Amino acid sequence: MLWARRRLTCTSALDDAKGAPEHMAIEPVGSAPTLAARVPILMYHEVLAEEQLRDLAGRIQSSYVITDTQFSLHLELIRELGLQIIGLDRFIAWRDGKSDLPDNAVIISFDDGYSGNFQHALPLLQEFGSSGTFFVVSRKIGDPGMMSWAQLRAMGDAGMLVESHTATHPLLSQLDEKATREELEQSKHEIQSRTGRAVTMISLPNGDVNPWYKRIALDLGYAGGCCSAIGLNSASTDRFMLKRIPIKRGLTQAQLRGYLSGSTVTYAAAKVQSMAKGALVGALGKGNYDKVYNRFFGVQDQRKRGS
Ligand SMILES: [Zn+2]
Repeated sequence: MLWARRRLTCTSALDDAKGAPEHMAIEPVGSAPTLAARVPILMYHEVLAEEQLRDLAGRIQSSYVITDTQFSLHLELIRELGLQIIGLDRFIAWRDGKSDLPDNAVIISFDDGYSGNFQHALPLLQEFGSSGTFFVVSRKIGDPGMMSWAQLRAMGDAGMLVESHTATHPLLSQLDEKATREELEQSKHEIQSRTGRAVTMISLPNGDVNPWYKRIALDLGYAGGCCSAIGLNSASTDRFMLKRIPIKRGLTQAQLRGYLSGSTVTYAAAKVQSMAKGALVGALGKGNYDKVYNRFFGVQDQRKRGS
């Protein structure tokens, strides 16, 4: 399956509908390698035990919560396909010509900082000898349902990466330049000071951007960032707009296999679905879209969650 992915040609069908405008382009820091790798970055939110799913009542976007059984099956599939889980830092280092990259690399990321990931995802990652990249919202650390600073330090000690998902989880498109800098700077500083480890990467709440994001991120010492566009990543992918694969509870093993093996059919279907969602969100507004979505596809929700 590996060579199927490597033969994949990067087409416009995989490009991000929210891709950065030309004027936001940032030159690479170093000379990028030419190896035609296509690296998937899986985007998880929270892993819970099966019996905890009943507690999802009261949550918006509960479809992003998966069970520990599902996560274990995902890791088994990754192993079966012969893929190697790496940290996002290694991909960035490779992109800068400072590290090698396995031919069969895959990256596992988690957004928001939910405590279920410490209880359920961390043990499974350790069992499979794998590393995860956890993007956390610095001012929500310690809130109910979120990881504590002690747990994040333990994550770092266990070889996981703890990175920024901003300070308060705003939509960047609604921030001015000053507020954008504060979100990126404060979260980086606080996570670094509380964990004792460098923070060099960020993921964008809802994949949302503004004209200043990349320049400010580079200025503050970030080396890369993830958005929510669906696709694979190569040496030429914008370092601050790395694409990901959204993992929802309804994702089938066949779909995940398609994503991991670079199936153009799987990516094209996801692209169509993403565009349809974008049109609905545009027509209904984000809040109304969430209500409609959860009425038909989720549990009855009241408590808002980030994404
Ligand atoms: Zn989020």
